[in-house]
Amino acid sequence: MDKDIVIDVKNLAKNYNGTKAVKGISFTVKRGEIFSMVGPNGAGKTTTVEILECLRTPSSGKAAVLGYDITDDAGKIKRKIGIMPQEFNTFDRLTAGENIKLMAGLYGNKSFKEIIELVGVNEFENKKFSTLSGGMKTKVGLAMALVSRADLLFLDEPTTGLDPQSRRETWKLIRKLNQEGKTIFLTTHYMEEVEELSDRAAVIIKGELKAIDSIKNLTEKYGGGVKLIVEKEEAKKLIKDRTDRVFETREGALIGIFDSKEKANMIVNKLFQMDCEFEIKKAGMEEVFLNLVGGRIDEGGEIL
Ligand code: ATP
Repeated sequence: MDKDIVIDVKNLAKNYNGTKAVKGISFTVKRGEIFSMVGPNGAGKTTTVEILECLRTPSSGKAAVLGYDITDDAGKIKRKIGIMPQEFNTFDRLTAGENIKLMAGLYGNKSFKEIIELVGVNEFENKKFSTLSGGMKTKVGLAMALVSRADLLFLDEPTTGLDPQSRRETWKLIRKLNQEGKTIFLTTHYMEEVEELSDRAAVIIKGELKAIDSIKNLTEKYGGGVKLIVEKEEAKKLIKDRTDRVFETREGALIGIFDSKEKANMIVNKLFQMDCEFEIKKAGMEEVFLNLVGGRIDEGGEIL
């Protein structure tokens, strides 16, 4: 195997009593990158991650992590990766620091103090886990994932449910870990998170990979050129007539996506003439998702 490929997945599938959670997906993750798997609730992200972490077995297909086969060498893989599970929990009555120390003990890692400092847990090290905020708990989870000294980290929806400030702090931390040489496999349903962090992303829906590429290439290929957002009825009508792809937001605005700047420009001129307000944005991952799936993902991970 190419030594720069740390995860190599071929036709991986998982069925749970008739539910096809993952339907034969193939992809690779390269050393040193932040790779995101993005999709709504139930898309198959956690199933994929847990198979790669050797916590579940696939129904068919193959995967190698750090050069080891997930079926034959599960023990070796488990010792060489760091995991932050979704909705993880730990000993509520122990302090943040004690939880990390306990986990470090399991890996024989005596330098856990450095990890506590690196992740910023030192600021609340002596507080009981049960009393911590969501952002603080995430930091403890990241620290616990780091004590194995792994160069490959799996972070399953690390910022779900966090307030915007804690989310940004977590992004900063993830970037820092990546700069220190960690390869990061991240799952998320936040498009902004994908754009902020990832080198490459895979879009997964109903167990199938719809697209996989760098953020730049995904937005160029599937994002459409320009996004116009309007609220007035006459502006909505104009946009509906001129573009093939329109989406209503839950708040009642209309988003029109234009492949060419020229076409968008014509509409912008008309909107000025009609004295209608509008918002104009370059298309990003949200539009990639709109175009691939035909809907947006809300804060809770559901497709609208
Ligand atoms: P979420 O963001 O909600 O965790 P996900 O993308 O991680 O979603 P999975 O948790 O992998 O998705 O679930 C994929 C599908 O498999 C869903 O339909 C889910 O209900 C089903 N599923 C997951 N785990 C099990 C299980 N242990 N037994 C039966 N069905 C399961």
